[in-house]
Amino acid sequence: MSREPRVVIIGAGMAGITALHVFTRLGFDAVTVLEKASDVGGVWHWNRYPGLTCDVPSQLYQFGFAPKADWSHLFADGPDIQRYHREVVESLGLGERIQLDTEVVAAQWNEDAANWTLTTKGGDRIEADVVVCATGVLHHPAVPDLPGLDEFAGAKVHTARWDDSVTTDGKHIAVIGTGSTGVQIVSALQPAAASITHYVRSPQWILWAPMSLRQSKLATRVLSRSPTAQDRLYRTLLWASGILADVTTRPSWRRRAVQGYARLCLRLQVRDPALRRKLTPDYQPLCRRQVVSETYYRAIQSGNAELVTERIDQVTPSGIRTADGCHRPADVIVLATGFAPHNYMRPMQITGRDGRTIDQEWAGGPRAYRMTAIPGFPNLFTMLGPNSPTGSISLQYSAERTAEYIARFLRMLRDGVATSIEVTEEATEEFNADVAVAMTPTVWNTGCNSWYLTDNKTVDLWPYDRATLTSMLAEPELSHFDIR
Ligand code: NAP
Repeated sequence: MSREPRVVIIGAGMAGITALHVFTRLGFDAVTVLEKASDVGGVWHWNRYPGLTCDVPSQLYQFGFAPKADWSHLFADGPDIQRYHREVVESLGLGERIQLDTEVVAAQWNEDAANWTLTTKGGDRIEADVVVCATGVLHHPAVPDLPGLDEFAGAKVHTARWDDSVTTDGKHIAVIGTGSTGVQIVSALQPAAASITHYVRSPQWILWAPMSLRQSKLATRVLSRSPTAQDRLYRTLLWASGILADVTTRPSWRRRAVQGYARLCLRLQVRDPALRRKLTPDYQPLCRRQVVSETYYRAIQSGNAELVTERIDQVTPSGIRTADGCHRPADVIVLATGFAPHNYMRPMQITGRDGRTIDQEWAGGPRAYRMTAIPGFPNLFTMLGPNSPTGSISLQYSAERTAEYIARFLRMLRDGVATSIEVTEEATEEFNADVAVAMTPTVWNTGCNSWYLTDNKTVDLWPYDRATLTSMLAEPELSHFDIR
């Protein structure tokens, strides 16, 4: 008996849009996306802080199925990328399948019916044969537990929930955190601030790149007129990004060259030895998510900027006191303190076969089979789930391959070959054991503390190259699945 599977994708960010497009392109009609926000775009909807820019070239940071010829810059800013997401949804006619302002809070597997019941925050119950969690990685803001933070009398804002009513021009600004976000926001706010103090607990290596370069009119004209040229450029960039996968996953002269460049960037841009010492990390370049900036070192050396590496002792109503007893006044505190990246679809309550919950399944840390299937949770898949290549391979490319992989299972459900599909425990264990071995020579495993690490200090990334990702997601190995 063939039946059109009812598919619910949770999340309308980059991965959710990809899954929706791929499934509908392959002829699946009963596909709906539920999105808790009031707009599509995911991370690019939620993050709207000043200076937000993508450090991946625009001509690569796009969907393979929706090339954009006319990016304004070589590295697009946040609003441009968000506009692109809206345009793609509109031009591909995907909008009518996306239900905004709909937060899924629970999903329950029904063994007899071989389907899922989803419960929304508004209390609606929705049945689905297949659930695809495209809920993102860098989504849940991490707010630090700093003594006195609640008593601060000025404005305080986390970068991932930027509040447009907060004014920063002419103000004394304190920025806490020095990941990609902290570095971008210090660079953006410094010119108009009365003063800006950057509180840095662990310095990061910062690669210089020409982030402000505009895409030339000639390039836009050529790419607009020639889809072949656009395709070639995209493929060349995909290929070139393979170098990043190579330098991060295997020790080589290439890795040493990039690391040498990182050290050179610091040496050439910061002349004061004392400041340079404070800005020098105690781990290898590339070990953490690499920070890229054209302007940070210039900003932090400006007359109105100060780098503070002393531990924060207390937030007072009027500023921040560090462990050396020094108190610096602040009007605004910006928390560039990152995310809880290993939550994935949680705090959604997901209950699979035999009443097993996702929290129980992931008590020892998140794990999946090939980034997308979880034992005990039939007909449920993740997009950019555990071990996804957030540190090395185009996420749009990875998402599209994952969606095509999931579509092969949708076909089995549609053709009546199966009613439930669940990855086995053995296959998941074997995959994760292989990943652990492959992770050994990666640069992420060289002793730094980063958001790539789970609570039990395993690296939650993809240790292989793009070709391996492509082949692992090409065709399901059915012996790895319990198909009923
Ligand atoms: P992050 O890299 O996790 O950095 C968080 C920062 O906050 C770290 O410097 C951390 O210090 C600091 N911090 C946290 N708690 C603290 C506390 N209690 N006291 C003092 N400092 C504290 O977060 P992020 O900068 O938001 O970046 C997350 C990821 O988002 C990036 O790695 C990247 O993948 C993505 N992103 C990308 C772009 C882009 O251009 N494509 C832009 C922004 C973000 P420690 O290091 O000591 O923990």
